[in-house]
Amino acid sequence: MIDLRSDTVTKPSLAMRQAMAEAEVGDDVFGEDPSVNRLQEKVAELLGKEDALFVPSGCMANQVSLKVHTQPGDEVILEYGGHVFNYETVAPSILSGIQLHPLPGVNGVLTAEQIEEAIRPPAYYMPRTRVIELENTHNRAGGTIYPLDGIKSIRSLAERHGITMHLDGARLWNASVATGIRMKEYAKYFDSVSVCLSKGLGAPVGSVIAASKEFIATARRYRKIFGGGMRQAGILAAAGIYAIDHNIGRLTEDHANARVLAERAAENPFFSVDLATVQTNIVILGIRGKKLEVETLIRKLAERGVLVSAGSPGKLRAVTHLDVSRTQVEEAAEILSGFAA
Ligand SMILES: *Cc1c(COP(=O)(O)O)cnc(C)c1O
Repeated sequence: MIDLRSDTVTKPSLAMRQAMAEAEVGDDVFGEDPSVNRLQEKVAELLGKEDALFVPSGCMANQVSLKVHTQPGDEVILEYGGHVFNYETVAPSILSGIQLHPLPGVNGVLTAEQIEEAIRPPAYYMPRTRVIELENTHNRAGGTIYPLDGIKSIRSLAERHGITMHLDGARLWNASVATGIRMKEYAKYFDSVSVCLSKGLGAPVGSVIAASKEFIATARRYRKIFGGGMRQAGILAAAGIYAIDHNIGRLTEDHANARVLAERAAENPFFSVDLATVQTNIVILGIRGKKLEVETLIRKLAERGVLVSAGSPGKLRAVTHLDVSRTQVEEAAEILSGFAA
């Protein structure tokens, strides 16, 4: 089976497991786990922030960050297809008592103008616009990259309005490798940034929030409140360190593989593929041929040996990652290009 459902299906390699087995550990609730501390320093440095915090998941990274940014009754502007809006089980309203204000983007990207129109006037009976949250790369839009110029315009708008900014950078590594723009250059325009170690980087568990010292001190309190205070978490942090040291550069292979997959699938009139959106490791396949339920199609492709997942309604999503080789990708591409229902 060629598993292209997600880059989260990767399993820790032997070398990564070795690094985990040999990790120096301590009690991280006391701040005494040297591996966790090293991972946090490493990510803070990579993102050009004062401090960082290791958390169990990307959802927790986003939710802890939003909790720090907001008070109940505040509002967060984000893109309609955003992970926080679609895939985090309404956590912002449950955990922070805040409202999300989604705006439709183009390939997941919002403009400063449309955000400005959505910022609330200071009437006491209206929500208070507190945070602008962006996603880079944008998952649901197909791994699309946020243009840096757009980010800069949104940042100056946010500053004019006294609004803070959070970046869901679960796949910021992919954006950085694809554009050559450094992680810290992207991160500079945000007050807080979350990154995932368990997507394309191949670690089994973990995300990191990077921000100012003060922000991280508060985030540490909320991580504990949300049940994310871990003890000898260095075992997991060691996998993250290994992933950062070994698996960032090779993301270019995933991107090249996604391109092969997309181009071959596009040859088949059964699918519609917007090649312009294939910028990193995600391929969104529209269904142009015979109208089939997405679930049926997923089953038919699985029968032929390729696992894909459901994307936004009526679409399939295929993701390349370090556990699928070029040969397997070519095989999957062959199956997609020849597929007929
Ligand atoms: C995967 C992902 C997350 C985190 O999800 P978890 O299930 O908690 O790992 C957050 N944002 C984006 C854009 C993601 O792709």
